[in-house]
Amino acid sequence: MRKTITYAKGDGIGPEIMDAAIKILKAANADLEYEEVEIGEKAYLSGNTSGIPKEAWDSVLKNRVFLKAPITTPQGGGYKSLNVTLRKTLGLFSNVRPCKTLTPYVQSKHHMDLVIVRENEEDLYAGIEHQQTNEVVQCLKLISRPGSEKIIRYAFEYAKAHGRKKVTCLSKDNIMKQTDGLFHQVYNEIGEEYPEIEKEHMIIDIGAARLADTPEHFDVVVTANLYGDVVSDITAQIAGSVGLAGSSNIGEDFAMFEAIHGSAPDIKGQNIANPSALINASVMMLNYLGQPKVAENIQNAWLCAIEEGIHTKDIYKEGTSSQLVGTKEFGQAVIDRLGKMPQHLEPVSYQNVTAIELPKYDRKEVRQKDKELVGVDMFVDDAVLSPDDLAKKLQALDSKELKLSMITNRGVKVWPDGFKETFCTDHWRCRFTPEDGVKVSPKDIVSLLGKAADGNVDAIKTENLYTFDGVRAYSLGQGQ
Ligand code: NAD
Repeated sequence: MRKTITYAKGDGIGPEIMDAAIKILKAANADLEYEEVEIGEKAYLSGNTSGIPKEAWDSVLKNRVFLKAPITTPQGGGYKSLNVTLRKTLGLFSNVRPCKTLTPYVQSKHHMDLVIVRENEEDLYAGIEHQQTNEVVQCLKLISRPGSEKIIRYAFEYAKAHGRKKVTCLSKDNIMKQTDGLFHQVYNEIGEEYPEIEKEHMIIDIGAARLADTPEHFDVVVTANLYGDVVSDITAQIAGSVGLAGSSNIGEDFAMFEAIHGSAPDIKGQNIANPSALINASVMMLNYLGQPKVAENIQNAWLCAIEEGIHTKDIYKEGTSSQLVGTKEFGQAVIDRLGKMPQHLEPVSYQNVTAIELPKYDRKEVRQKDKELVGVDMFVDDAVLSPDDLAKKLQALDSKELKLSMITNRGVKVWPDGFKETFCTDHWRCRFTPEDGVKVSPKDIVSLLGKAADGNVDAIKTENLYTFDGVRAYSLGQGQ
């Protein structure tokens, strides 16, 4: 049975590049039916703060595969990012961004053929932020075991399906031992299931530097949401143009395919936009839908047009390019080359690409660790007291179950035995732990908070301290 996809033309250059992509899909006889929906600026401005009207949701939920052109997010508060809403609502946990250079036909200082697999749902993009004191705001970084398992397994399965040899994990677990530590640990555990694939871990800072300098070192890269967002833009940019790179957003039940670039309002309606990114996203969609023959036919025709020097303005270069064309003409050039193989650039073959199937995460199968409450961090807003004076005030709240043992400011220990040179804000983490051999209960925390309120201590939040299977599961103070 023919597969029906939902598509949206979006804003800015969206309608122009989508028209080109759909014409190519039709000319290549993709086994598809097409259902158009309207999302984006018009919906936002008509009062729909999500930018996605009900009819669009109905179509996406029914067809489960969505080809989306870029959207303009109106300036000003109150408008939620439609992309983040779609990714999170549909559980599109995996953002896959292949980046391949096309030298000498598209200028780049580098040689690369890599794929960034970015976690798409959690990390700092959970969007949980609070102002806590006059001076300090916070954003909660959430990394989950299921989230990490899904994305890391996806990266290894992607490598297997596409005949790739190495999966590099990027994290910052030398600093964030709990969050990035979990991501790295899950990478090590899952990596063991793939002995045929080379494994490598880099700290994100040197990893990003090496991606920008020697991208040929990399094959598949798996990383958390924010790092992936940054490094995938770096690799797309140094590959030649943001107008070339497509991406897929894959979940257990839904998938969305799009260009990595935005709606480019500066060149809207001029027939000069490069439709390549959306064409490449369509190729990824065809592979996802199990139509590899059509996918490689389109991709090889596209490579033919590129190597013949038929270029849109963003990649046109005197001497290298043979013909400056518009969006429509470039699309037609791809159609004219369907069935042809590139002579210089490496042709693609997707016949052996296997479908990626992940096991569903089953919480019941995961052993519940033995969790024990061993103390509490009470965060306090105080713009006046010194660390020693704050300690004196807080020691009045001590009990044998919860006794002040440490104060930090922005993570650095300032009491006991702090350095007077340490700069302090009005945001204090005050750690209370029991005397030796004494057990803590949640009621002790409630009692501590009650005493804090009575003692005029501005307690702004608490974080419980736990061990799991006897292992400490919270950070120490820097300098502790
Ligand atoms: P942009 O990617 O739209 O444009 C950046 C630059 O690249 C511009 O100079 C533009 O002309 C050029 N460019 C982009 N795509 C091109 C193409 N296909 N061919 C030729 N040149 C191209 O980024 P921006 O200007 O920061 O954002 C514009 C709008 O897009 C904003 O409203 C932003 O919120 C939105 N946006 C949407 C998405 C999405 O829907 N997935 C992603 C990013 C930005």
